[in-house]
Amino acid sequence: MCAGPGCTQPITARPTGRPARFCSTACRVKAHRQRERDRAPLTAEVDHGSASSRGRRPELAWLVRLRRADRSVIVAIGLSRTAADHLAEQIADLLD
Ligand SMILES: [Zn+2]
Repeated sequence: MCAGPGCTQPITARPTGRPARFCSTACRVKAHRQRERDRAPLTAEVDHGSASSRGRRPELAWLVRLRRADRSVIVAIGLSRTAADHLAEQIADLLD
């Protein structure tokens, strides 16, 4: 079976040489990007959320986000800068 992320295409056996690992160039590229993402460090970011701050006082519109390469997830919103910095510091300690 193809080693591409999420791909279930069978690999046709080659008569000679190293057996193929991917069904297509697209799968090879996808797997390469995935490996790069997996190697990237996981970091905690503090940011001022504009879109998510509607109805919130601007001083309570800070957020904390976990990021690895181009992927991220917001773990807390509606914080003061101090609270956001503290949370990010705790996460960084945990990841260390
Ligand atoms: Zn594939």
